[in-house]
Amino acid sequence: MQFKGQIGNLDLVRKINLEITFKTILEHRPVSRATIASITGLNKMTVSSCVDLFLQKGIVIELGKTGTSRGRPPTLVDINASAGICVGVEVEVNQFTVLITNLAGTSLESTSYPLTSKEPQSFVDAISTILADIARTYQHYRLGIVGVGIVIPGYFNLRTKVVDYSANLQEWNRFPLQGELIKRNPGLSFSINPAPYAGAMGEIHFGRAKQTESLVYVASSWGLSVGVCHKGELFTGAAGIAGRLGHSTIHLNGKKCTCGSKGCWEMYASVKALYDLLGTTPEKLPFADIVAGMNNRDGKIAGAVHELGHYHGIGLANVVNAYNPKAICIGGHLALLGAPLLNSIWNTLKECIPDRFLDNLEIYCSELGELGVAYGAVSMVINHLTDTLVSYSLVE
Ligand SMILES: [Zn+2]
Repeated sequence: MQFKGQIGNLDLVRKINLEITFKTILEHRPVSRATIASITGLNKMTVSSCVDLFLQKGIVIELGKTGTSRGRPPTLVDINASAGICVGVEVEVNQFTVLITNLAGTSLESTSYPLTSKEPQSFVDAISTILADIARTYQHYRLGIVGVGIVIPGYFNLRTKVVDYSANLQEWNRFPLQGELIKRNPGLSFSINPAPYAGAMGEIHFGRAKQTESLVYVASSWGLSVGVCHKGELFTGAAGIAGRLGHSTIHLNGKKCTCGSKGCWEMYASVKALYDLLGTTPEKLPFADIVAGMNNRDGKIAGAVHELGHYHGIGLANVVNAYNPKAICIGGHLALLGAPLLNSIWNTLKECIPDRFLDNLEIYCSELGELGVAYGAVSMVINHLTDTLVSYSLVE
């Protein structure tokens, strides 16, 4: 895309040029000034002036020379990945996971903490303490924490800034999560999104779905939900709750669900359903032990995964019929079940749907594994990086 002929006052034009230049560095990194000028249509003097400001502020760096052309080879410009850190937090029903990355999205560390209380204020207290610890630990990063992405197992209303609805954490319904987080952490900016939307964004940003035009991401943890991404755009629906397919009915008079309905897909095809099939709990049998048991051909676990895959396939048949995706990515904890789960899903899909509708469909388990949604939370921060860092550059 060419950006030409900006009209407005000089400060506004400068801000827009800085945003265009930084966004181009982010998307094409590392990149020369000449290439930025050619991609954006900005003149070389303008690009150089923007890059010089970023260099002065320490948010980009110059790499070695490149090219074999005669004359002075161009210097490549990259973002300074160590200028700050991004924090992604995935809240689940029993735990929350904190992923810390540099500005390039490279993982520095991740830790899971038990969700000891279902009360949302208790989470706000816990994460605020953790964020303060992170800020101290990474104080040698010039900008510190540039943003925090929080992913919840429910839907967040971007207009009212309250949790709209969570079937599995009902105590969070109508809680003013963003306001409470800002109150406890002044100076930090928070982006909040539901797990399936963040998971889809994370898969596109960090996973193998980069070139996929039509992706369905199944956030498969304690609950089940679906994020649909078509040509780079998330489908969120009229009220931002599209994708609650975990609560689509697959058994007319089936198991009672936390949402109040019966026979919901997530009662048969989620992590919760897998524990039901095994007759145990995460406290007695951590999920990692289930994965290990499956890999060691434990008959009971293999049977449970097979049945889980059957029910997963029934729900995915509805997904295929509704959305005609190019790819379906199984994300969240169930991604760790890999081929045995996928084989069972395919067996059922082939029973439910004519072959011609499955011809070009790819179903895979996210290589980001159980951290997929937390990476999605980081991608929410990186999506705002241009705004954040250009604003920082303009502070005298
Ligand atoms: Zn339900």
